[in-house]
Amino acid sequence: MVKSVKSTEVVLQADNVTMAFAAGTASEVVAFRNISFSLHQGEILAIVGPSGCGKSTLFNVIAGLLRPTSGSVTVDGTLVDDATGHVGYMLQKDLLLPWRSVLENVMLGLEVSGAADQAARERAMSLINRYGLGGFESARPKALSGGMRQRVAFMRTLALDPKAILLDEPFSALDFQTRLILQGDVKRIIREQNKAAILVTHDIGEAIAMADRVLVLSHRPGTIKAIHDIDLGDETDPVAVRRTEAFNNYFDVIWGELDAHVEAAA
Ligand code: ADP
Ligand code: MG
Repeated sequence: MVKSVKSTEVVLQADNVTMAFAAGTASEVVAFRNISFSLHQGEILAIVGPSGCGKSTLFNVIAGLLRPTSGSVTVDGTLVDDATGHVGYMLQKDLLLPWRSVLENVMLGLEVSGAADQAARERAMSLINRYGLGGFESARPKALSGGMRQRVAFMRTLALDPKAILLDEPFSALDFQTRLILQGDVKRIIREQNKAAILVTHDIGEAIAMADRVLVLSHRPGTIKAIHDIDLGDETDPVAVRRTEAFNNYFDVIWGELDAHVEAAA
């Protein structure tokens, strides 16, 4: 496992971002309030928080699909005010096109942005070969397992070489074993590609095992309850790491902050 190469270079900055739907009307819903954080080159930041606290909405704001009510997001110092492909976005559903092969799916975003030249094709093939899909480049999605389809979706995100990668509950539809394997592999790949990534998950263990920092959001409207630096020492195996004292300490603290009993009873 490649260690973090987190630098001090800020890739993405959220400043006091608030998002309210139907703002100023009787049906106003404030999704989240006053969110500020930085994401550094080579860093994985996990965001955990109860369902409905605004995590996916925050991603839509970062991707430029929604305008925040107040505050700002910058990527590489440029204000996000439109969906310009500055970030790669991966969701729980793989959204692969069934009639396209693995390679054609990985190339999809490149084609849409007019960048599907020979060099891009070679880059896509090298991602496919390097990260567990070699020999499947001509296969259709229906011939693949759920875990492999998520790998293809992740390769499609990487192929665009975005400044930052947003992962919204990317493993939550997978069985437990596959999820653990993908957590380890995706973390390793992000490290090797020296990417900055934000992972939204409601799985506390996944957040601790994968991230350099974990940001904890409150119930809606989501506000930042805490941000934890994660240091798991030298243990990087995604399963073994769960048996360490450090992992369990982080788990207990974050579990307490999430107020999970309140959520379960709600
Ligand atoms: P999470 O991803 O944390 O589960 P979401 O970001 O999906 O939460 O939603 C946050 C809140 O904003 C929820 O209460 C949801 O109902 C509301 N919401 C999301 N999208 C819209 C929308 N387009 N219009 C109105 N309310 C919305
Ligand atoms: Mg969501």
